[in-house]
Amino acid sequence: MAKPTGFMEYKRELPPDRPPVERIKDWDEFHEHFTEEKNMTQGARCMDCGIPFCHMGLLINGMASGCPINNLIPEWNDLVYRGLWKEAINRLHRTNNFPEFTGRVCPAPCEGSCTVGINDPPVTIKNNECSIIDKAFEEGWVVPEPPLTRTGKKVAVVGSGPSGLAAAAQLNKVGHWVTVFERADRIGGLLMYGIPNMKLDKNIVQRRVDLLAAEGVKFKTNTEVGKDYSAEKLLKEFDAVVLCGGATKPRDLPVEGRNLKGINFAMSYLHANTKSLLDSNLRNDNFISAKGKDVIVIGGGDTGNDCVGTSIRHGCKSVVQFEILPPKPDARRSNNPWPQWPDIKKTDYGQEEAIAVFGNDPREYCISTKKFVGDENGNLKEVHTINVEWKKDANGRFSPVEVPGTEKVWPAQLVLICMGFLGPEDSLLSQLNVDRDQRSNVKSDYGRFTTNVKGIFAAGDMRRGQSLVVWAINEGRAAARECDRYLMGYTDLP
Ligand SMILES: Cc1cc2nc3c(=O)[nH]c(=O)nc-3n(C[C@H](O)[C@H](O)[C@H](O)COP(=O)(O)OP(=O)(O)OC[C@H]3O[C@@H](n4cnc5c(N)ncnc54)[C@H](O)[C@@H]3O)c2cc1C
Ligand code: SF4
Repeated sequence: MAKPTGFMEYKRELPPDRPPVERIKDWDEFHEHFTEEKNMTQGARCMDCGIPFCHMGLLINGMASGCPINNLIPEWNDLVYRGLWKEAINRLHRTNNFPEFTGRVCPAPCEGSCTVGINDPPVTIKNNECSIIDKAFEEGWVVPEPPLTRTGKKVAVVGSGPSGLAAAAQLNKVGHWVTVFERADRIGGLLMYGIPNMKLDKNIVQRRVDLLAAEGVKFKTNTEVGKDYSAEKLLKEFDAVVLCGGATKPRDLPVEGRNLKGINFAMSYLHANTKSLLDSNLRNDNFISAKGKDVIVIGGGDTGNDCVGTSIRHGCKSVVQFEILPPKPDARRSNNPWPQWPDIKKTDYGQEEAIAVFGNDPREYCISTKKFVGDENGNLKEVHTINVEWKKDANGRFSPVEVPGTEKVWPAQLVLICMGFLGPEDSLLSQLNVDRDQRSNVKSDYGRFTTNVKGIFAAGDMRRGQSLVVWAINEGRAAARECDRYLMGYTDLP
């Protein structure tokens, strides 16, 4: 174990983020990094408790409790404390192909179930993970490791998000020839074109893609399977297929005025912004700008927060984020005890920046959008809302009830709809005759990852619905294991 008395001697400490008013002037990552000594002290806080709930990765009450990829957290916390960084990265890479992504963007369900967290702030697990992999890259320890032999089997992975990349990495490791198809012009899925640069620098994504390419994975960009490359050809040319196309169908808000100019889905806004940033440092004007506009972000989740942070960097005039639900509590409710994921209110980076720039939290709770109103040229000018109260209906279910007299008109020239996603797109799945579940995701049992079509597997958001990077890695790895078993009749993959 790390230092036996560490959890009593040291307080939880994280490197401070760059100050909001500074970081909004650029698109660089907002997290700072610790010195090695500070990391070692934080590693020392791990108690190596009898049952390390932090790495169990179970779903309790529908939410992840502990690390979904079962990272061997107490082991590498101890190695960090002892300064054995190379051993730590070897340990970390055993369960996680991409710790540089999770170490930056994971919401860290591990920390919600850390035993120290029962009566003290938990161990800084996510930051320790990030420090291990960043140090490993700095030291040149992460190098291409192509397989020594090839099986001659060919596997197609459709989609290059974290599930597709994890599946590709694992299948390539055991010697299959893997080709990853991606319809976008860059590899990475939402790691590249969803999560903004200030949260996850795109050079970090590209660095891992380059490593995979050097290990023998082939990438085909600008290629939509089912359109540019037929489903028929896919089945003919490959021995197996892993579908990792994500859950990209956005939920719309079909109220009056929805077709006015200035109302966009969040992903159109975020994707175009990152592409223009990477192509031209935002000089080519191929993006939707929030500059000088009153922006309304509809949806209180993480995507909404990314839209707030992006609008502020564009120089918006104002930004408000609507949430139909009431605010979460500041501390755990009695029915949400440790080691469950703490379902509490958090102020994320975009909201912090809005507070620093405009002096108030951008979030408006219990608010419902009634209609959009435009000017004579069809440009959005106003958003009309009403407040709601959550009351139990006749079936005992909570539902929103409008509160008369709370109607309000908000000036707006840009609306960003971030109301979640409705599952994968239809085209390719219909062409492959792949069955869907009740939520329209690909029908495939967790653990087996097979579909109704022999030789076709599914993983990530396309199978489980919009989720998290860490779950996508979990599913990509496990689908690769099942695909390898199908191809070889046995498997050594974890
Ligand atoms: C704005 C935003 C921010 C997020 N922030 C976080 C965060 O901070 N932390 C976190 O853990 N999670 C976050 N998430 C969720 C996380 O990004 C996803 O759960 C994860 O990326 C899912 O991975 P995936 O590989 O299943 O799919 P995706 O990442 O969606 O990748 C699917 C890829 O498949 C491609 N594709 C689809 N169909 C085809 C086809 N027919 N042919 C070729 N290519 C195809 C798509 O272009 C896409 O690139 C965020 C999501 C969004 C939308
Ligand atoms: S991947 Fe996420 S849950 Fe797992 S150890 Fe890292 S931060 Fe924690």
